[in-house]
Amino acid sequence: MERLTDIGNIRDILSRHGFTFSKALGQNFLINPSVCPRMADAAVQGVPTDASVGVLEIGPGIGVLTNELLQRADRVVAVELDKRLLPVLDETLAEYDNLKVINADILDLDLHKLIAEEFGGMDVVVCANLPYYITSPVIMKLLEEKLPIRSVTVMVQKEAAVRLCAEPGTRDSSAITAAVRYYCDPELLFHVSAGSFMPAPKVDSAVIRLQLHEPSVHPKNEKTLFKVIKGSFAQRRKTVLNSLSSSLSLDKQKMRDILETAGVQENARAERLTLQDFSNIADALEETE
Ligand code: SAM
Repeated sequence: MERLTDIGNIRDILSRHGFTFSKALGQNFLINPSVCPRMADAAVQGVPTDASVGVLEIGPGIGVLTNELLQRADRVVAVELDKRLLPVLDETLAEYDNLKVINADILDLDLHKLIAEEFGGMDVVVCANLPYYITSPVIMKLLEEKLPIRSVTVMVQKEAAVRLCAEPGTRDSSAITAAVRYYCDPELLFHVSAGSFMPAPKVDSAVIRLQLHEPSVHPKNEKTLFKVIKGSFAQRRKTVLNSLSSSLSLDKQKMRDILETAGVQENARAERLTLQDFSNIADALEETE
């Protein structure tokens, strides 16, 4: 269907289906015609040309991004929580036979199973205009579960994009910046204004792409690494010594010794530490436990 970003057309489809937007489900649909082709191009970029491409989309809405993905991929599986949108998608994407829509909450799905069953032998990427209320849990689920996916290309709130793609050691970096870098190379691709959506959200957005890679450091215990990252940023204005000893409930002298073993200055701030520093602290902590 050609005119899925046309406001008159969208209103017509939605009113015929008696659909009203749900704020709780983060329903801001794209109406800027230039955004979805760019997102879909970015999503499949990097997949070898001789490979079959499978795309997992989260929250297809009325199918505006799905439509672009279907033209570039061999198969698209779209997971939509709002069952009122299923008959809408049946209508807007009727011409495609390489689409499956699953009515489910993305956070509840066994994605290893889904990918094995739906995309056997394909190169798989994820693409979505994410519902903003679940940005972090969705991204962490996609990364932590170590899924066989090549990349994640998603629209998120501008502030989240800046945090997720911040360079370590800069003011914008946070616990999620460090955690994300463990799994992937993040890249902010382009900004999208609030007026590109219906209804318009209060904030601007940006499209980011996460290219997955093997973990870039090798801590003895991954869980301890994430505990250390979280604990270091818990009180980011404090020194890493103070923030970690209070969040891990460790005696200050013991924490000082751990930092010394890890080769990390006790008065450093979390945002200045590299992933290797966090990994060294985690290993030193493991040795004392
Ligand atoms: N892709 C469409 C677009 O760009 O216009 C819609 C994007 S809208 C920001 C987010 C979509 O995610 C909505 O269709 C919403 O119903 C769906 N959604 C919200 N929570 C979800 C969840 N937990 N699992 C799957 N889909 C969800």
